[in-house]
Amino acid sequence: MAALTSLQAPDIRHAKRLVVKIGSALLVDRATGLKQGWLSALALDVADAKRRGADVVLVSSGSIALGRKVLNLGDGALTLEQSQAAAAVGQIRLARAYEEVLAPHGITTGQVLVTLEDTEDRRRYLNSRATMETLLGLGVVPIVNENDTVATDEIRFGDNDRLAAQIAVTCGADQLILLSDVDGFYSANPKEDPSAVRFDLVEKITAQIEAMAGDPISGMSKGGMKTKLLAAKTAVAGGCAMAIMEGSVLRPLTALAEGANRTWFVAHSDPQQARKRWINAMKPRGELRLDAGAVTALRAGKSLLPAGVTSIAGTFGRGDPVAILDPAGLVLGKGLVRYTAAEAKAIAGHRSGEIERILGYQGRAALVHRDDMVL
Ligand code: GLU
Repeated sequence: MAALTSLQAPDIRHAKRLVVKIGSALLVDRATGLKQGWLSALALDVADAKRRGADVVLVSSGSIALGRKVLNLGDGALTLEQSQAAAAVGQIRLARAYEEVLAPHGITTGQVLVTLEDTEDRRRYLNSRATMETLLGLGVVPIVNENDTVATDEIRFGDNDRLAAQIAVTCGADQLILLSDVDGFYSANPKEDPSAVRFDLVEKITAQIEAMAGDPISGMSKGGMKTKLLAAKTAVAGGCAMAIMEGSVLRPLTALAEGANRTWFVAHSDPQQARKRWINAMKPRGELRLDAGAVTALRAGKSLLPAGVTSIAGTFGRGDPVAILDPAGLVLGKGLVRYTAAEAKAIAGHRSGEIERILGYQGRAALVHRDDMVL
C-alpha cells in the first residue's frame, strides 16, 4: 500500500507568533479569587516562549469573574449592566495580575481591550493590526480582552474563544492555544457519552466534525465546543493552527510541548498567504494608477507611497480594497488603502513628509502598506 502522508502536529516550540487564550475558570476560583500559583507558573511558560524568540499575545477572560467577587454580586446570573460593572472592576485587577507575574521575567505587558467592531470594520481592523504589530515589535506581551464595559449585547463577541481567533488572525499568528476545561475536541460530549473519542489532529473541519460539537457545557466559561469550533474555523482560514487543551495543570504550555492530550486543528497555509488570499477576494472600491518608479518599488517589495501615484478613481474609505494599476492602466494588484479617496487625491504625487502640511495631521507614510497588498 502506498504510504499515507501523515500530517504533522505543530510544535509549540516552533511558534513564531503565539496567541494563548485563558478561560475564566482557570484563572479565578469562585471562593478564593485569583489563582496566583497557576498564573505565576504560566508566566514561566510565557517567558520560555519569549526566550525562544516567539511573540506572545495573551487573550484572557476573568474580568467579570474577578469583579463579581469583589463586588459581592453572588453566583446567580448577572444583568448586562452588572456584567459591565463587574468587568470594569475586574479588568483593572486582571491586567495588574499579569503585569505582576510577567515583570519579574523582564517582560512588559500592555492592555488591549477590543470590541467585535474593531475586528470587523476594516478601518479599525487595520488600526488594531498596526497597534498590535508595534507592541509586538517592541517586545510587549499584549493582554487582550473584550471591552466588556462598553460592549452591549449586539456588539459583543461574548466569548473569548472567538475573540482569541480574531486576534490571532489580526496579528498574523501561526499558533493559537485555547486553554480550556476539556482536553480536546471529542467525537461526542465525553461527559455524556462514554464512547466519545478525542481527536489528536483535525485536518479539515468537515460537516461531520461540525455535527460532533455539542452546546456549551461548562458552567463558568462561556465557550463550549461550538464556539471553539467557530474559533478553529476562523484561525485555520487565517493560516493559524489551533490547539484545544486542558489548561489547569501548572505550566500548560510546557505540558503541551511534552505531549499532553490536546487536539490540533491544522492550518493549510501560513498567515501571510491566507491574508493575501483574503485581500485578493475583495472587490475593489477604487483605483490607484502608479508611475513607473512606483511599479519598480512595489515589485521590489516596497509599500506604495503617495509620491508614486499619478491618478485616483472611485470613492473609497480608509481600509477599503483598491486596484493598483500600472502607468498603462493594467491591473498590477490589489491592496487595502490607508486614506480616503479625497485624502489620497490630495496627497497623490507628494512626498510622505508633506502629508501633515497637506492634510493637517500626520498620517501614515504609505498609501498602501506592503503587508496589505497582493501583486
Ligand atoms: N470577557 C469576559 C471576561 O473577561 C469573558 C468571556 C469568556 O470567558 O469567553 O470576563
